[in-house]
Amino acid sequence: MVLYDNHNHSQFSFDGKRTSVEDSARAAAEHGLGGICFSDHCDFYVPPMKASFENLAPEYFDVAAQQAEIERVQKALGDSIRVLKGIEIGMYRDCRTEIRKVMVENSFDQVIASVHYIEETDPYYGGYYDGKDWKEAYGNYLRTILEEMKWLEDFDIMGHYDYIVRYAPYPELSIRYRDFSDIFDEMFRFLIHEGKALEINTKSYEGYRGRTVGLDRNVLIRYREMGGEIISLGSDSHEPSRVGAGFMHHAELLKHLGFRWTAHYEKRRLVQMPLI
Ligand SMILES: [Zn+2]
Repeated sequence: MVLYDNHNHSQFSFDGKRTSVEDSARAAAEHGLGGICFSDHCDFYVPPMKASFENLAPEYFDVAAQQAEIERVQKALGDSIRVLKGIEIGMYRDCRTEIRKVMVENSFDQVIASVHYIEETDPYYGGYYDGKDWKEAYGNYLRTILEEMKWLEDFDIMGHYDYIVRYAPYPELSIRYRDFSDIFDEMFRFLIHEGKALEINTKSYEGYRGRTVGLDRNVLIRYREMGGEIISLGSDSHEPSRVGAGFMHHAELLKHLGFRWTAHYEKRRLVQMPLI
């Protein structure tokens, strides 16, 4: 079984100082992965409350420099692993112009579309959840992904739909299909029609501050039932030790649920690798 880790951060991400393209690509080769994609952060909007906490530089990167480094590392590692050029576009309504521009001006192997910031807040720092119950907080997040990805269109993988649960204060530890069936169905119709991938982001399920998000299998079952076959595995690694984390478990789960492939994209073209 040849697996690709499609979601990794390198030194080109604002929060990627614990690794490098080279270290994570070497780790991927050692783990026996077929490929690794560097999907560095590109968020043009950063909530003011976060900027004041961390005094951060902008959360986007020099695409040309990242791609030159990926090419260098690919040459150094030869055939042992495919090293792909990616980006994780942080979708935010007020930044649509900048987002479109970065997509038009650059070429990637694959593009993950994610939502990290919402309603002028960073869920990691809280604020977003204030005054909302779990259903409203999770529902707003899913609707925002849906709305922005329909606008963007130009991407390959819908990133971590359950990111919002990682930092939530509620006892509800997963986004269940049955609670948001209308939104999920609309997301899946769009992904399936457009040939885009649903991401399983394994970082969500590793636990954070004593909370471990649960993946509701019914989400995957429904996607499959509607004809969804394109699944992307991503570790969301920010350090070499997490590259490919949780992949065997999730690959087995996918097989068990009747999926036959995992997906990645090369030069924006879908590649399906058999789950055997
Ligand atoms: Zn992300």
